[in-house]
Amino acid sequence: MTARTDSDSIFDLAIVGGGINGAGIARDAAGRGLQVLLVEKDDLASHTSSGSTKLIHGGLRYLEYYEFRLVAEALAEREVLLRIAPHIIAPLQFVLPHEPHLRPAWMIRAGLFLYDHLGGHKTLPSSFGVDLATSPWGEGLKHKFHKGFVYSDARVDDARLVVLNALGARELGADIRVHTRLVAAHREGRTWRMTLQGPDGSTCEHRALAIVNAAGPWVKQVHDDLSGAPGRASVRHVKGSHIVVPRVHGRDHAFILQSADNRIVFVIPYEDEYSLIGTTDIPCEEYEHPRISSEEIEYLCGIVNGYLEKPVSAASIVWTYSGVRPLYDDGSADPSAVTRDYVLKLDDGQGDEAPMLSIYGGKITTYRRLAEQALQELKRFFPAMKPAWTRSQPLPGGDMPRGGVASYCAQMDACFPSLDADYLAAVVRRHGTRTARVLRAARTTSDLGAYFGDTLYAAEIDYMVAQEWARDPDDVLWRRSKCGLHMSAAQREAVVGYMRQRTDE
Ligand SMILES: Cc1cc2nc3c(=O)[nH]c(=O)nc-3n(C[C@H](O)[C@H](O)[C@H](O)COP(=O)(O)OP(=O)(O)OC[C@H]3O[C@@H](n4cnc5c(N)ncnc54)[C@H](O)[C@@H]3O)c2cc1C
Repeated sequence: MTARTDSDSIFDLAIVGGGINGAGIARDAAGRGLQVLLVEKDDLASHTSSGSTKLIHGGLRYLEYYEFRLVAEALAEREVLLRIAPHIIAPLQFVLPHEPHLRPAWMIRAGLFLYDHLGGHKTLPSSFGVDLATSPWGEGLKHKFHKGFVYSDARVDDARLVVLNALGARELGADIRVHTRLVAAHREGRTWRMTLQGPDGSTCEHRALAIVNAAGPWVKQVHDDLSGAPGRASVRHVKGSHIVVPRVHGRDHAFILQSADNRIVFVIPYEDEYSLIGTTDIPCEEYEHPRISSEEIEYLCGIVNGYLEKPVSAASIVWTYSGVRPLYDDGSADPSAVTRDYVLKLDDGQGDEAPMLSIYGGKITTYRRLAEQALQELKRFFPAMKPAWTRSQPLPGGDMPRGGVASYCAQMDACFPSLDADYLAAVVRRHGTRTARVLRAARTTSDLGAYFGDTLYAAEIDYMVAQEWARDPDDVLWRRSKCGLHMSAAQREAVVGYMRQRTDE
């Protein structure tokens, strides 16, 4: 197939990868006045960025690996993200049952003291000790646990965080192309000439002054293909899997549980009816379609069953998912000990050629700071670039009124009195202050079009297709919403039929 040349379009920045890092950099760069193109070979967030444990956290366990810089930055970011995306990020308290043979109480207290203070100013409650036998914090645990600690972090809808960054980027002028793969690129002095392959298999060419390689697990492959030589930086692919089971207790708290192999496993209240349990750390070669193994299921059930009053088993699992961490290879023998910090590598060819910035590692939690640092690295190529701005600007839908999400839900209840309050709350949790754009002039549920189950109507699918790059049923059911988890196979099939019919029209 011959490539069509769009020679008049020279972008400042071409970003490879529509995960959280690519989308975050696209939004930041577009807001600083750069002409941005982002290409994602599949759906936005269809790889690592929808396979996370969904925590916005400092990472209590990283303190044991002396990752103070990462923990401090992540804790500070937790506050920023809670402020700019309150519809999809919410505080969550974790119970840590104390087991004296693993760590003395003074050590945990010292760690939690650091955790409370490392990030600077915080709005979340500080940590405290609890009697698990007599307080509600022990609910869900076996009765053998007496002493425990409670600390704060936050949870996030990881895939929606990516979509919101991409939306924000587009609104600032970025060109976001899904199902579009960068298949080749070469330098022509100070520009890159790129070949892109679109959803129909046809190719076209574009030029850009700089490339950001935010390809996640594919980062080294993209780097080596583009530079024509294997780079020195390397990536460790470490799979992590999760299981979702019916709720293991009725309270709001999560658990952080320690395993005999010195790892930790989280048990998190999820989507009202479920508990999310994970994760594992398995070095892997296959990163296109990672899947949980029976050993991982056994491992996760084995750990949590040492703690939980209500046992979980393979038979109770309603959903599983896996992601592959693209970690910067720091030479650690133990996959759990490999740094979770990010590393940016700038390659400017012979010295003054078009640059490629490759992103290794990172966390959902630190994506915004990573984006700022990526643009700092590229500043000398774009001296007129505007300063950093994303710290205080809400993500799309995050501009809540005083009183936050609860008060906005009350406003929506008043605006749409015939619509069910739980339904409205679910839409607000996905779209924030853009809820009215999704519902438009709907006065009753019949105005929302076909009903597919859980909280999904045709009106929202149409919005996701028109505004959020949804193309396939999974984009709607498992990434832009988690309605798929609450629906029967027949209901999900009806969504498939509806989306197919839309495409055929
Ligand atoms: C099991 C697990 C649990 C985690 N838990 C947490 C957590 O609780 N909190 C937290 O903060 N972080 C967590 N993380 C880390 C976090 O998920 C990742 O750091 C982050 O998602 C990486 O995002 P990314 O954009 O670099 O990669 P990705 O999301 O994988 O995005 C890269 C994209 O590049 C695209 N791509 C690749 N090659 C090309 C090409 N040639 N052309 C076009 N597109 C291309 C891919 O299709 C992919 O979508 C977890 C990670 C895992 C695996």
